[in-house]
Amino acid sequence: MTSADAITIPADLLPSDSRFGCGPSKVRQEAVDALAAAGPTYLGTSHRKATVQFTVAALRNSIAEMLVLPDGYEVLLGNGGTTAFWDAATFHLIDDRAQMAVMGEFSSKFANAVDAAPHLGAPEVVSVDPGQAAMLSANAEIDTYCTVHNETSTGVAIDPVRPDGDGLVLVDATSAAGGLRFDASATDCYYFAPQKCLASDGGLWIAACSPAAVERIERLSASDRWCPAFFDLGIALTNSRKDQTYNTPALATIFLALEQVNWINNNGGINWSAGRCDANAEAIYGWAEAHELASPFIADTSIRSHVVATIDFDDKVDANAIAATLRNNNILDTESYRKLGRNQLRISLFPAIETDDLVALTRCIDHVIEQLA
Ligand SMILES: *Cc1c(COP(=O)(O)O)cnc(C)c1O
Repeated sequence: MTSADAITIPADLLPSDSRFGCGPSKVRQEAVDALAAAGPTYLGTSHRKATVQFTVAALRNSIAEMLVLPDGYEVLLGNGGTTAFWDAATFHLIDDRAQMAVMGEFSSKFANAVDAAPHLGAPEVVSVDPGQAAMLSANAEIDTYCTVHNETSTGVAIDPVRPDGDGLVLVDATSAAGGLRFDASATDCYYFAPQKCLASDGGLWIAACSPAAVERIERLSASDRWCPAFFDLGIALTNSRKDQTYNTPALATIFLALEQVNWINNNGGINWSAGRCDANAEAIYGWAEAHELASPFIADTSIRSHVVATIDFDDKVDANAIAATLRNNNILDTESYRKLGRNQLRISLFPAIETDDLVALTRCIDHVIEQLA
C-alpha cells in the first residue's frame, strides 16, 4: 500500500483539463481569451453605458433563446448569486404560504430562509432523505411552489412540473440551467447563478420570470411590505428592463456567461448542451456501474443527475483519500458535498466538461485505487 501523498499519477493518464468541481466550475479557456481580448474596451467601464448594457442585453436575450422561454417571459438579473435571490424571493415572490420541496442542502437552505421570514406564513415543507426526490403537490392554500431542478449536494435531478391551480412555480436551476432540458412553461421563475453550467464566475443571479411572476413582483414590491432595496425585485425588474443592475455587477461574470450561452446557442441550443451532459453522464455512471468498488449513489436512473454525478465507494476504499490523491496530482474538486458525509466523490458533468477528460478521470481514479490498495 502506497500512502496517498506518495502517489504520482502517470502523465499519460491525466485529463487535459483538471477542473471537476460543481461550482465554481471549469471556465472554458476560449471564453477567458475572449474576455482578455475585450478587456481594454470592456473591463473597467461604466455599467450604465452602452458597451456593458449591450452585453447585458445580449445575455438576457440569449438566455431567453437557450431556455426556449415562452412569449412574455422576462429575464431579470441582480447581484448576490442564488443565495441572495432566495431572500429576494421571500420578499417579492412569495405572497404568504409556500410549499418547499426539500431534498438536500440547497433546497433546505431556501426552505430555512422562507421559514425564518417573519412576514410569511409557515411554509409547507415536503422533505425526503438525501438521494431521493421530493415532489410538489397541489394544495389550495399554497401561493408559491418551490423546488430545485438539480439538487447539487446529492446529484438528484427532477423534471419541474406545475401543480394544478394558480400558485407560482419557482425552480432553483443553479446547477441545471443550460445543462438539463425542461419545459419553461411549467415554471414561473427559473433562477440560477452562472458559475455552474454557464461556466462563468459567481456573484450574479439570473431569473427567467413568467408574466404571472412579474405581476406578483409588481404587486408585492408596491405593497407596504418592508424590503431592503438590495432584495427588492421591483427595483431589479426596473433595472433589468434597462439592461442594468441595481448596483455594480462583476463585468467579467456577465461577459463569461454570455460567451457560454452563445457557445451553446451557436452549436444547437439546449439539446446540444444537454446532449454533452448525457454523454458525460454515460461515461461516469457506465464506469461506476461496471466497477467492483464504485456505484452511482442515485440508484433510480429517472432521478439520476446528468449534470452532477455522485459516486459511492465500497468501504474497502477511502473516497477522501482518492480525492486528496487526485488533488495532489492537480486534479481538483472531486470531494463529495461536505455535509453529506458519504464515502463518495462528486464530479461535475456540466456542458463545458469534455467527455474525454471524464474518461481520463476514471482511469486516474482506477490507478489511485490500485496504488492505495
Ligand atoms: C450552487 C447552488 C446554490 C448557491 O449558489 P450561490 O450563487 O453560491 O448562492 C444554490 N442552489 C443550487 C441548486 C446550487 O447548485
